[in-house]
Amino acid sequence: MKVLKFGGSSLADAPRYMRVMEISTATHQTDGAAVVLSAPKGVTNALSLLCEQAAAGEDFQPLFNKLNDTVTGIANNLNEELDGFAHASVVDFINSHLSVLKQHLEGIKLLGVAPDNVAAGILSIGEYISVTLFSAMLSAKGIANRVIDPVKYVLAEGDYLDSIADVSLSKARFSDVPTDGSEFLIMPGFVAANEAGEKVTLGRNGSDYSAAILAACIDANCCEIWTDVDGVYNADPNQVEGAVLLDKLTYQEAMELSYFGAKVLHPKTIGPIAQHHIPCLIRNTLNPAAPGTLISNEKSEVWTSVKGISQLDNVTMFNVAGPGLKGMVGMASRVFEVMSNANISISLITQSSSEYSISFCIQSKDASRALTLLEDAFALELQNQLLDPIEVRHDLAIVTLVGDGMRQTKGLAARFFNSLAQARVNNVAIAQGSSERSISTVIESKRAKKAVKVIHQNFFSDRHTIDVFLVGCGNVGTELLGQIEKQQPALLKRNVQLRVYGIANSRKLLLNSQGIDLSGDWKAKPPVPL
Ligand code: ADP
Ligand code: ASP
Ligand code: MG
Repeated sequence: MKVLKFGGSSLADAPRYMRVMEISTATHQTDGAAVVLSAPKGVTNALSLLCEQAAAGEDFQPLFNKLNDTVTGIANNLNEELDGFAHASVVDFINSHLSVLKQHLEGIKLLGVAPDNVAAGILSIGEYISVTLFSAMLSAKGIANRVIDPVKYVLAEGDYLDSIADVSLSKARFSDVPTDGSEFLIMPGFVAANEAGEKVTLGRNGSDYSAAILAACIDANCCEIWTDVDGVYNADPNQVEGAVLLDKLTYQEAMELSYFGAKVLHPKTIGPIAQHHIPCLIRNTLNPAAPGTLISNEKSEVWTSVKGISQLDNVTMFNVAGPGLKGMVGMASRVFEVMSNANISISLITQSSSEYSISFCIQSKDASRALTLLEDAFALELQNQLLDPIEVRHDLAIVTLVGDGMRQTKGLAARFFNSLAQARVNNVAIAQGSSERSISTVIESKRAKKAVKVIHQNFFSDRHTIDVFLVGCGNVGTELLGQIEKQQPALLKRNVQLRVYGIANSRKLLLNSQGIDLSGDWKAKPPVPL
């Protein structure tokens, strides 16, 4: 049996749901399918925003209506597409869930806060609507299907909003689920239950993890993650022009890339599939013919020391420093205990060799909580000036170079840091994983895009890029642009890409991040007035 997971990007509207049905029923006929579904695109974001609006006492009705229109619209369109679609009962399901949602939002507005257990219920509504739509689609096609409610099957522990599954205990619960392909299995992603049977979520973007849990629990022979790109690239293809698709990644490489920000795969996904040796394929719902990227124990035939670059945004760095740290046994462990007790995950740690300071990075959303907790825990040391006031740096990003082969190759760190210097980026902190599978730098987030672009170019492209911004486009400037246009093809043959990104005179500015087409009538293009 195969597990297929479809993310929100694959479930944007009724035609995409139809496509998902086509892909998954084809697999069901040959191997038996268990499908894990996310919420329709944008729905979890809307639910999260509704909680925020209600807690802030704002009017949530307009967004609520928009959400209602989106999901009801998908149901109505599917009803037009499919004979025998149980439209009335699907719409009933949507209405009853949205009316409970509204009551909860009114309650949150009165309280002024969304308690985590209530938020977990709200955030997962989209996934339940998604499986209800899909089950009705399969039934309309006469395909026997069963919806698995993770609340009954997937046991997890931790926060209501970011739990970790206990795969072996969950597996025992799946004994009554047919895995012989006689029924098409459908499970909402992102959801689980704690020991008390309360609904929890697995963290934002957590449906990938749900797929891995399900694959491990039903001993699937493959876990396919279907998304909106052809597979895992050596950098985010939506951010880096010329990013290259990878055919294979080891579990460890995929883990490092996703942990450091490649959101094509949630980092928690790797644990269950690696432990149960289940191969994982990343595939494109919009291009099912593409073979995708295989994540397994197999190494790629094409050896490269560096596999990819990832970028983790919304990072805050803490620096705990002071004379009290020097030689004092257990200070580091106290710092990290405070974080772990508060369930705050640390993405990178560095310590100065003089032991005078410990720096670590966490997600910015946890920063103010972390600061309060640290100041409480070290109140005495701060009061007695054994510790300096805790330093906090916001608006940072972590850029990481990943590859199993990095440990055998010398000079990579030098090339990495040269690239950063070339991009005029200042390193706030650096760290290398002890496995030598990754090198990370912490930099200002506003410089991250440029940094990734230059690193990508230096490591993966033998093409030299020259970016031109022309100020002054009178006779001489126009002639120069003409010359550049004539030279471009010849330069490209010599692997030099000369592109004009901006043209300005004293009154107007023309910009194009992809390069201005100089063969077209660029003078007629609408400029940005200065
Ligand atoms: P889904 O809705 O299917 O879960 P996501 O938006 O969570 O999809 O993940 C897919 C996105 O991940 C892609 O559109 C791409 O922009 C982003 N991404 C980031 N890094 C990479 C990478 N290295 N390779 C492929 N995609 C990446
Ligand atoms: N719908 C959830 C989210 O947007 C889970 C997921 O799509 O993976 O975070
Ligand atoms: Mg995702």
